[in-house]
This record gives sequence, structure tokens and C-alpha cells, in this order.
Amino acid sequence: MNLQQAASAIREASAGGAVSLARVPGVYPASVKSFNDALFCLVRTGQGKRLAVAGPPGAAADFEGTVVEGVKICELDAGNAAALREAFPWTAPVTIGRRASFGTGDRLGVCTPGHLRAFSRFEIFPVLAQQSMRELGRTGRTPRQVIDDAGWGAFEAGYAGTFAADADHIKQADEAVSCYRLGFTMFTIDASDHIDLKAVHLEDDEALERFEQLGGHREVLDRYLGKSWSFSKGGLKFTIEFSAPELARCALVYHRAVEHMALVYRELSAAAGNSVEGFDFEVSVDETETDTTVRDHLFVAGELKARGVAWQSLAPKFTGQFQKGIDYIGDLDEFERQFAAHALLAEKLGPYKVSVHSGSDKFSIFPLVGKHTGGFFHLKTAGTSWLEAVRVIAAHRPELYREMHRFALENFGKDRASYHVTTDLDSIPEVGTLADSDLPALMDKVDSRQLLHITYGSLLSVRDESGEYLFRDRIFRVLYEREEDLYSNLDRHIGRHLETLGTAAK
Ligand SMILES: [Zn+2]
Repeated sequence: MNLQQAASAIREASAGGAVSLARVPGVYPASVKSFNDALFCLVRTGQGKRLAVAGPPGAAADFEGTVVEGVKICELDAGNAAALREAFPWTAPVTIGRRASFGTGDRLGVCTPGHLRAFSRFEIFPVLAQQSMRELGRTGRTPRQVIDDAGWGAFEAGYAGTFAADADHIKQADEAVSCYRLGFTMFTIDASDHIDLKAVHLEDDEALERFEQLGGHREVLDRYLGKSWSFSKGGLKFTIEFSAPELARCALVYHRAVEHMALVYRELSAAAGNSVEGFDFEVSVDETETDTTVRDHLFVAGELKARGVAWQSLAPKFTGQFQKGIDYIGDLDEFERQFAAHALLAEKLGPYKVSVHSGSDKFSIFPLVGKHTGGFFHLKTAGTSWLEAVRVIAAHRPELYREMHRFALENFGKDRASYHVTTDLDSIPEVGTLADSDLPALMDKVDSRQLLHITYGSLLSVRDESGEYLFRDRIFRVLYEREEDLYSNLDRHIGRHLETLGTAAK
């Protein structure tokens, strides 16, 4: 249907009210809403999705658009997204507070309605908008688009619940504040650049000597030396104490990171008018080489508290490998031992949530995450939704998939540099030898999953000699045409995550 036809069908149907409007082909039935004596809906047309408003002139005065056949047709742009948030406040992200939560990074900006189908079955707070600055660079999107796309997706799905927006892996205070101003509600502070892991290996004497030169080292001594913290729950029981050199090393490793997080927190608080409920703060120390010990965890928590920081979740670095888009690799017993201890600390020192990053497809640890937190956790996924989109392409545009696959093979060497992955390209069959019907199954195998996962940025941004996107437009076109397949893939796959985590059903 073209715009003209859609508009005239909407005008006619709207005379019969919301129910009749919801039956117009192309109109997303759940999106039909009334506001200001007008009927609003999202409609699919040959030219893309549009917001359509049928009603008295002036009913949608805050929305930019053109009147076609008596219906105001509006682009899904930034100005209209802002107007949408005013008219329908549930399309704007809000804070999570003390609730279990699950992040679905949507690198394409078209996955939210599929994610919401999965969330509709589980008691968990969705973080529908979640994007790291690094990902944005790779996908050519802006932080504002991430929020807007989630809002449009919520509107399309008729989701009138709450959701959050996570400014993920924030490194600088100014990034955090500018994301806050755009409407992000959760801030994940990656302090890895300020963690001095080399200090772990210092000899006692040198550690003590360097510790004494640290600002505030007296206060740190007072807070920890000669004290002990005992934790017990079920069969788990442990005590944390610091010897002087242990404390010195811990302080040397984390001192700057803690200062940095406190600085970002203060700037955010100021931006939020010093309201503690104004944003969710996640402390992340996971982007390091060594596992976070319970002593590290207690120290970081104690130092942040001493600086007046309040946080909702903390992401330790766990044993094993959290490679992108595939299951956990590592010792499950050791993971469980570490995870249970961190979860107990988070419960007793907070309560706050333990956060698991790179949570896509970590099915073997999900039951442990659910069990040891009593369901009170935060988990982040992102790449897995992109891979579900690739699965749609493999199923419906085999030639496009093969092109993408071959391009990914050529670029893998370069793109893998910023990831830790153990992908074995040799184990991936040559796509030319596979039948079309065998292509989607590549998204079930570790090596081909990683091949397509790691190269998403190149695939979405590469252009040909004439400056046209090589894949991007075609990717979005297939996903638009095959939207229902995309949504049902996402529903199934994110649903499997939530089910395996043991999240309570609605
Ligand atoms: Zn992380």
C-alpha cells in the first residue's frame, strides 16, 4: 500500500473508531491509541513506517507531518519521537530502581517489538534501549536514535508498561551527562581504564610504600584494617579480612577507578538535580583480565559508599570466557562458587544487583545466575538480537546472506582485534557448497555465529565506490519485509534466555 492509499483507508476506518482503524491492512493494531480527540496509529506503507493521525485539525499540532487525504502522516523522526513521548509518556524510558532487569541491545533499531513479545511473558524490567558508545560508532547511530527507536517500537507494540535506557560502557563524565540529557536512565560506568591490575603483583614492601603515598590512605586503613566481614547463606559461609599488604594492593588496583566512578556519579547527580531516584547507576569492573575477588568487590563497594555513591548494580569479572554471542566457556563449578559469593555480597551490602555483561546465549550459567540471586539480577544482551536478524536474512535472502558471509570472512581478521574470541574459521563450511535451506542453521553454530557477530559494524557501514551502502539498505529492507519472522525469532530467543534464567512467568 502506498501512502495515499493508506491515508484514505485510515480516514474511512477512523470514522468507525479505534476498533475499525485497527483492522486497516498495514496498521499495527496494538498501536491504535486515542489522544486529543484524535486516533493515532503506526502504519506500514511501501515507503516505510509512518505515524498516522486521524482527527480534528490541530489534534496533533506538536507533530510534524503532511496532511494526506485528511490524515496527518508523520515521519518517525527525532522531533516526532519527542512529541510522542509527550503525548504517550510510556514511550519514554524511566528508571528501574530495585527490580530485576534484562537488557536487549538493539543494534538495528528495529527489534523492540520482538523483544517486547518475549518480555510480555515474564516478570522482569526490560531495558529496551541499551547501547555502548563503541557500538554506536560501529552502527552509525546516535544515542538519541537509540532512545527514539525503542519508543517507536514500544508504541508499535502497544506496550504501555515501563522500560529503561542504558548508556552502556560509559567512560567519561561528559558522555554520561549528555546521555542523561537525551533521556537515558541507566548508566553503566566502565572504569577499566583506571584499574591498575599490575599492582596485584607488587611485593608487600613496595605495595605498602606506594599505598602510603595515596591520597586518603589513612581513611582507607581505618575502614578496613583489623576488621572482618562475615557472610553466610545456606551452605555458603566466608569471612573477608585484609592484611596490610592485601589492603595496600587492593587500594592501588582500584583507587583511581573508584575516584573516577564517584566523579561520574557526582556529575550525573548534579545533572539530575541531586535526585537519588533520577537515574540508575551500574558499577562495572568486568572489562579486566583477572577475576574480581570478593575482597575486591567489598573494597570497591566500601569505597564507593564512603564517597556517597548509590548504585543499583555491580558487574564483577567472573572466571571463564564470556565470548560474544555463544555459550559460556569455562569451569561451571568455579563460576558458581564465585557467582554465589558475589551475589551474597550484593545482597548483604546493598541489596543491589549483580550484573552479567556479554550475557547473550550464556545458557549454561543462566540457571546459576537465577538461583543465586533469587531472580534479582541484571543481564545484558546485544549481539544475539543482531544474529536473529541475520537468521532472517539467511532464511529469506540466501544470496544476500552469502555475500555478507564472504565479506565477513574477508574482514574477520581486522574486526576481531577488539574482541576476545577463539573462532575457528576453518570449521565453517564454504557457503557456496551449502543449500539455501542449510544457511539459517549457520546461526546455530559457534564459529559462524561469531563470524557474523564480530563483523556487524563493517557489514552495516561498508560502502561501495559510489558511496552507497553495500549491505545496510538491503539488510533493513529484508527485515522490513520479513518483520514478522524477525519478531518471532526474537520472541523465541530472548524468551529462551528469560526462561533459562528462571525468571517468573507473568
Ligand atoms: Zn562489560
